[in-house]
Amino acid sequence: MKLACLDLEGVLVPEIWINVAELTGIDDLRLTTRDIPDYDELMTHRLKMLDKHDLKLSVIQSVIDNMGPLPGAREFVDWLRERYQLVILSDTFYEFGMPLMRQLGSPTLFCHKLEIRDDRIANYRLRQPDQKREAVKAFHSLNFHVIAAGDSYNDTSMLTEADAGILFSPPQNVIDEFPQFPVTNNYEELKQAFLEADKRIDAD
Ligand SMILES: [Mg+2]
Repeated sequence: MKLACLDLEGVLVPEIWINVAELTGIDDLRLTTRDIPDYDELMTHRLKMLDKHDLKLSVIQSVIDNMGPLPGAREFVDWLRERYQLVILSDTFYEFGMPLMRQLGSPTLFCHKLEIRDDRIANYRLRQPDQKREAVKAFHSLNFHVIAAGDSYNDTSMLTEADAGILFSPPQNVIDEFPQFPVTNNYEELKQAFLEADKRIDAD
């Protein structure tokens, strides 16, 4: 049995922080892991900006409620779950991710947690450093083969650790820095890449 590990933002749902930036008009929130690969540095910047603009958790959650998955994402998830055990490995937070999971048929989500005080995001708690990679390592220790797909810098250690890694709609700098991973740009191509990876793993 093989496991499929998928990134969330940029693969199944739009970038949450970019949507929040657009709806609130706070340009300082536009940066993502595509811009700042160091996640701690990025989150520290985001929390500072939330405080500066007095933006509450409930406002962010209402943006996410209206956001929904990318077109075709739900069908792709259903296709994948008929063939693999699916685990979504994301650097988002349960407070943001759970409403989106319901719209995707409630697949398993491993991500981080926020510390909330009076509707204000006071801090964030990473489940563990480099959790995407650690999850794939743990699945290997349970004798699963893993095929992983993601779009950005914070996925590359997961893709490297997996038996097969696939890029989905990545920015050019990630394509250039990680030429070892096949690049897909829509769900049909991603399905094909999964099937090809599957065959390669079986042949090894
Ligand atoms: Mg992503």
